[in-house]
Amino acid sequence: MDMLRSLFTPGKAGLLYSVDHAAFLAGLPARDVMHSADLMAQTIVSSQQVYGQDLVLVHSDSLVMVEALGGVVEYRDHGPPVLVRRPEMPDLNPLDPSCHGRIPLILDAALEVDRRLRESGCVVTVSVTGPFSLSAALLGEAEFLTRLGRDREVEQKLLGLAAESSLCFIRAVEEAGLSVMVAEPLVSLISPVLFEELVAPGLSKLVTGRNVLIHICGRADHLLPVLAQTGGIYFSLDRVDVETAVSVLGPSRHLMGGISPSLLRAGPIDRIRDMTRDLRRKFSSAQLMICSGCDLAWDCPPSHGRVMVEIASRCLGKNE
Ligand SMILES: [Zn+2]
Repeated sequence: MDMLRSLFTPGKAGLLYSVDHAAFLAGLPARDVMHSADLMAQTIVSSQQVYGQDLVLVHSDSLVMVEALGGVVEYRDHGPPVLVRRPEMPDLNPLDPSCHGRIPLILDAALEVDRRLRESGCVVTVSVTGPFSLSAALLGEAEFLTRLGRDREVEQKLLGLAAESSLCFIRAVEEAGLSVMVAEPLVSLISPVLFEELVAPGLSKLVTGRNVLIHICGRADHLLPVLAQTGGIYFSLDRVDVETAVSVLGPSRHLMGGISPSLLRAGPIDRIRDMTRDLRRKFSSAQLMICSGCDLAWDCPPSHGRVMVEIASRCLGKNE
C-alpha cells in the first residue's frame, strides 16, 4: 500500500495549513519559523498534536519556489510572506533543490517531521507548486492570465521551465521517502479547454506513477472531467460538490476535502460538527478523506479544526 492510500481507510482525517498557522499556534513569529528547519519541524509537530490529523502538510508558503528561482520575498511576523521582486526572466534555469532558496531547509524540516510522526501513522506530504501556478507567479499572475493563448511560444517556454523545476523538487522529496502535494492554486480560474491544453500535459508527467496528491484551490467543479484524465489518483479539492466529485473521479481515485477553510475560520462550531458528520455518513473512507478544502487562515481558531478532525476520525456508531 502506498503512503497516500493508507489515508483512505476508516478513521483518517486531514487538515491543510501553512507554517504561518503552525507559528501562530506556537506563538512564534512566522518569519522565524520560515527560516529554521528546527523551528519549522517543531511547530508542525506540535500543531499535529493540537489537531490529531493523519495527513501532515509541510508547506512553508506559496513563494518558496519563486524565491528559489531568484525572487525577493519579504517576511512578516504573522501570515504569509509577500513577493517584492520577481526573478529576472531571460536567463532563468530550473531550480536546484539541493541549494536554491529555502528548499534544503524545508526538506530537512520535512524529514524531521516524518521521523517524529511516522510511528503514529501520520503521512507527511511536502507541498510543491505546480507548473501552471509557478509560471503565473514568475511572470505575474494578472499578466500571465490575461496573456493566456496570445503568445504560445512564451507560454510554452515558461511552462517548460516551471515543469522542470516542479519535477526537480518532487524528485528531491521522493528521494527523502516522502509524498508530494502538487498545488495548483490558479487553475480553477481557467476553462477545461485551456486546462487540457496548458495544464494537463505537464501535470500528467508529474503525477503519473507517483505518490502525488493534486491540490486545486477554489472552485473546481468545471474541471472534474479533465482532472480525472491527468493520471492522478489522489485529489485534494477545495470547493466542489463532493457527491459529483466522487462520482466523476470514479472508484479508482480518492478525494480529500469537504470542509471549507472559511467555515473553519468563522465557524460556528455546530455547523462544522454537522457538516463533518454529514460527510462521514454519506461517503466511505475510500471515497473521501475529510479534510479542509484548502489551507486554514493563519489565525484560524484551533478549536474549529480540532472538532472537524475529532468527528471525521471517529467511527460512527448508530446514534451519531
Ligand atoms: Zn488551496
